[in-house]
Amino acid sequence: MKNKSDHELQLRFDSPVVTWLQKESHPLTLRQIDTVPQFKGLWESEKESLRNSNLELFCPLKSHNKLVGILGLSKKRSGRLYTQEDIELVMSVASQSGIVVENARLYDQAMTWAITDGLTKLYNHRYLHERLDEEIARGTRFGAAFSLIMIDIDFFKTYNDTYGHLAGDEVLASVSRCIQNSIRTIDMPFRYGGEEFAVILPETMLEGAYVVAERIREKIEQKIHSGRTSVTASLGIASWPTDGVTKEQILASADKALYAAKETGRNRTCAPSDVKKQGLVTVGAESETQRIAISMIFALAATVDAKDHYTYGHSRKVSQYAVAMAEAMNLPKEKISVIRNAGLLHDIGKIGIPDSILNKEGMLDEQEWRQIKAHPELGVEILRYVAELSNSLPIILNHHEHYDGNGYPSGLSGEQIPLEARLLSVADAYDAMTSLRPYHNQRSPQDAINELKRCAGTNFDPELVEIFCKIVQPLVLKGEGEK
Ligand code: GH3
Ligand code: MG
Ligand code: MG
Repeated sequence: MKNKSDHELQLRFDSPVVTWLQKESHPLTLRQIDTVPQFKGLWESEKESLRNSNLELFCPLKSHNKLVGILGLSKKRSGRLYTQEDIELVMSVASQSGIVVENARLYDQAMTWAITDGLTKLYNHRYLHERLDEEIARGTRFGAAFSLIMIDIDFFKTYNDTYGHLAGDEVLASVSRCIQNSIRTIDMPFRYGGEEFAVILPETMLEGAYVVAERIREKIEQKIHSGRTSVTASLGIASWPTDGVTKEQILASADKALYAAKETGRNRTCAPSDVKKQGLVTVGAESETQRIAISMIFALAATVDAKDHYTYGHSRKVSQYAVAMAEAMNLPKEKISVIRNAGLLHDIGKIGIPDSILNKEGMLDEQEWRQIKAHPELGVEILRYVAELSNSLPIILNHHEHYDGNGYPSGLSGEQIPLEARLLSVADAYDAMTSLRPYHNQRSPQDAINELKRCAGTNFDPELVEIFCKIVQPLVLKGEGEK
């Protein structure tokens, strides 16, 4: 509210004037403010401001009985007081205005929601398209360039599969904070798709966009961690009008640059010029690299088995048991292959544990235990860059969880633990019990089966123990249980 002398009238939410108008359905006069005891609590500055406002009458604007505004009327030109008739007229206008004010507020809120992404509170996909149109129109009129950054989280599907969708959503919110903390107020951040983000940088050339993109990338890498894993993102940048004149062209240029960043190793920023430079890099080349990486990893897993000489061949045997169980359960072929890999690689994280701990004969102390318990997460850390193994990571991460929630690393229980991990844990335990280990006596196959049954429902999923025993028991009876 502004008066003739341009004094702005400001009232606190909890000002006695507001409280009064919230309760009453008729106007308040300036004189009442000076005379009614309820207004004794008014701050002196508020009283001063009310007097200076030159207003005489304060009418509540209400919608559904809620105060949504205050209509202030100055003194009558004639200098007379407002009559009852005047007040009734004003209040009939006020009752209509309350609804209009509320509708305007709701419309404003709906407009904000329509362009905002609920999870990250960034602008949404639709609004990116609108803003790009406007930036291009502005650039065409005034000749101002702008840049676009596209951001895509690396291996996010694996992250979701490994840590769950809720943890994934937290990462999306953290990434949005990293973006917001790296840009100027005139830059606009968007959630472009599921795990893709974009930023429009008005009046910024490609070099400037590169600096901002790298700032965002570094912040994500440094700030977002889960267990031993840090989340990374790949970024593509493009500038208007150099890299595209239309909205579609500029989006395609930034997208191609982003793809180049993915192709050349991820966790980096690429510009459209990088797309041309690495034109020879093809999908085939990436899968060839992946193929080599996979064979190296299996060689590494075999080395872990060999390093721990007591458990020689352990991973291979666990993998065989687990596959036999999966086949007995008629799981689909793709799942069986994922389980086979997880079995072969489940202990790869032990590569980071000293031999002196792995082969220790006595009890482990607390610090040694902590190192042993880290091996599932360490395994995930080693394997997470190999896209082809991504489906095996949740199994590897969770193969030491217990059905009753007393396992590690997360203390998941029951069906929170992926089925394949519950399955692998039965196979793993059986082979561990029947092998010679430095820290316990080797059990006979029958003893091991009895122990699995004893721990069904606590350590293990009882249904899976039953399936496993059905497979192994006949072999044990025939004397083949020692593989
Ligand atoms: P790349 O490094 O090649 O980008 O691999 P990626 O796994 O990140 O890429 P891809 O596009 O294959 O996977 C995107 C994944 O993002 C699929 C889905 O699991 C996840 N995702 C998409 N939207 C959401 C969301 O709203 N919440 C969560 N938690 N995950 C999402
Ligand atoms: Mg994506
Ligand atoms: Mg991604």
